[in-house]
Amino acid sequence: MSSFEKVKKEIEDAEIVFGKKKGVTKLIAVSKTKPMDQIKKVIEKGQVHFGENRVQEALSKWEAVKSNKRDLKIHLLGPLQTNKVKKVFSLFDYIHSLDRLSLAEKLSREAQERGYCPKIFVQVNTGKEEQKTGIFPENLKGFINLSQKTYELDVVGLMCIPPINERPEQHFGLLRDLANDNGLTELSMGMSADYKTAIKYDSTFIRIGTAIFGEREK
Ligand SMILES: *Cc1c(COP(=O)(O)O)cnc(C)c1O
Repeated sequence: MSSFEKVKKEIEDAEIVFGKKKGVTKLIAVSKTKPMDQIKKVIEKGQVHFGENRVQEALSKWEAVKSNKRDLKIHLLGPLQTNKVKKVFSLFDYIHSLDRLSLAEKLSREAQERGYCPKIFVQVNTGKEEQKTGIFPENLKGFINLSQKTYELDVVGLMCIPPINERPEQHFGLLRDLANDNGLTELSMGMSADYKTAIKYDSTFIRIGTAIFGEREK
């Protein structure tokens, strides 16, 4: 079994163990830093969702591949600078890192010009870490309200990256509660080290790199 197939199997098993509906957990194969040769093997196994962190790297890797295979869905997981918004619209189907109003405004303007908008996750700083971006839980309701009503963005869910030295449970639980409070159905949480826990807490998009593609250099 390839490491991709092993991960798929473990997701299925975790859904059963935690009593989730089969297939509610969608897998994003995080292919950042990895070459297309290696990624293609996973595409050939039927994988649809792929995650990248850098806009420029993603464009050069995916533009040609995606124009031949339009059902692929590309997710931007990393921070987004406002000057890259135009480029993002030409490739990405999902953005997981909406973290400030200036970006919401920029995305909104681009969406109006193009007549469509990628699906958006609001990144939440559940651990209120200074070095991390993301909206603090207490500011989330207002932020979502503005994003949806004023900027008319297609906000589908919330995303978090738990603090590195803490157990992820409380962060996943908090994110789930926040999504419920705000009427959002999608939860982007869980990485190679903690995705089973994320499935327990109702994650709908887990983001897995290392467990599929191996360690990344630097
Ligand atoms: C790199 C990255 C991942 C994948 O992490 P792994 O530990 O390799 O599974 C998931 N989410 C984000 C936001 C990332 O930057």
